[in-house]
Amino acid sequence: MSWDFETEPDFQEKLDWADAFVREEVEPLDLLWPDLVFTPPSEKLRAVIDPLKQQVRDHGLWATHLEPELGGQGYGQVRLCLLNEILGRSSWAPVIFGCQAPDTGNAEIIAKFGTDEQKEKYLQPLLDGEVFSTFSMTEPEGGSDPTQFKCRAWADGDEWVIDGYKFFSSNAKSAEFLIVMVVTDENAPRGKNMSMFIVPADTPGLIIERNVGLGSEPIGEGSHALVHYDHVRLPASAMLGDPGQAFAIAQTRLGGGRIHHAMRTIAQCQYALDMMCERALSRYTKGSLLADKQFVQGYISDSYAQLAQFRLYVLNTAWKIDKYNDYKKVRKDISAIKTIMPQVYQDIAGRALQVHGALGASNEMPFGRMVHGAHVMALVDGATEVHKVTVAKAVLRDYEPSDDLWPTQHIPKKLAAARAKYAAHLDSEEK
Ligand SMILES: Cc1cc2nc3c(=O)[nH]c(=O)nc-3n(C[C@H](O)[C@H](O)[C@H](O)COP(=O)(O)OP(=O)(O)OC[C@H]3O[C@@H](n4cnc5c(N)ncnc54)[C@H](O)[C@@H]3O)c2cc1C
Repeated sequence: MSWDFETEPDFQEKLDWADAFVREEVEPLDLLWPDLVFTPPSEKLRAVIDPLKQQVRDHGLWATHLEPELGGQGYGQVRLCLLNEILGRSSWAPVIFGCQAPDTGNAEIIAKFGTDEQKEKYLQPLLDGEVFSTFSMTEPEGGSDPTQFKCRAWADGDEWVIDGYKFFSSNAKSAEFLIVMVVTDENAPRGKNMSMFIVPADTPGLIIERNVGLGSEPIGEGSHALVHYDHVRLPASAMLGDPGQAFAIAQTRLGGGRIHHAMRTIAQCQYALDMMCERALSRYTKGSLLADKQFVQGYISDSYAQLAQFRLYVLNTAWKIDKYNDYKKVRKDISAIKTIMPQVYQDIAGRALQVHGALGASNEMPFGRMVHGAHVMALVDGATEVHKVTVAKAVLRDYEPSDDLWPTQHIPKKLAAARAKYAAHLDSEEK
């Protein structure tokens, strides 16, 4: 029987290297160039980041989410989780390690559903870390319910024409291409009425109406675009997968994306807990250290336990993905993780902020970004409420209704059955 929580020594060595490398070489980039993570790098920036990417390649840690035939290491999701627990501390680290969202998911679907021509044109530069891409699905009218999507495409001779709006298309301003999900057959049943297209960013009619920022970012300077596909014309070869296959493709993409977010969130939670503990041991008030106050001890204990539970659940689900190699089989767990991730992150980051007092609420510590980040995690790749519905439906599928008025476990009913079973052994007053 194998039920092992230990990391292989060879891989642990790689993790130790990655941990020191991210802290010493990569985290400074977060402070110097926080806004340039998803921007095509200037020559000046390339001089810094290209050698760092090369070191990652030399250590066999480039694009670890991918199979070897796509230039990755085929390490699987458990090892990726252990690595992402390190990379998630830093905004730049996923880019330096070639495994940043949304490009990972986009690469995955081009690899699985793309034609040879699409793979050559779009996949290779993506895998080389030379370009960025966008996944364009949510619409201004609503993201949670794709039946409301209005952006559509129709065939016109040999071409497709796309018309409509997409909202929160992350990184569209720096993307080389966008993968867009649109209605192509209004009469087809739900789940079969939409298709995907790969749209080069310089296609006429593709207009970024505005870039939306998060939290306190200045208006107009964010990374999440409202995109107008204004009668964008594409050749038939631009379709990704078959007509009507968009839902199936999106599920492949989002399954991986969601659990990768959770892996990186473990890193942010650990970071917040580390800061909370250091502050508790450093700050003296009302006759003792904060670490000696029971309220603060409660914060630390609750955070430690919440993080341990969350981490084990993510690792166990990563292990199931590796075992079944099928996201559909672990959809319930991925959705369940998606529902607890924002709460765990918000609780731990919020307590860490509180323990730091005014400094914690200031822009000199990262807690404001983290607490807001927790809310972002409750939306990105699907709202928590929608995932809870998915989990509940999947859980209920394993149950049957009771076959009479009383529940199966109703004690009087069970007692009567127990008496009938052992009647021969019961005294008359026990019957
Ligand atoms: C930082 C960030 C990056 C993103 N990047 C991308 C991207 O690159 N590409 C992309 O296509 N999208 C992206 N999104 C959009 C994201 O997928 C949507 O925000 C999400 O699907 C929810 O859609 P919505 O924002 O339209 O909210 P709505 O659908 O309007 O929902 C609003 C709220 O209503 C409630 N609600 C909705 N449905 C239900 C229900 N069935 N039951 C109960 N309550 C419900 C929930 O509280 C939900 O939060 C991004 C979002 C964020 C925050």
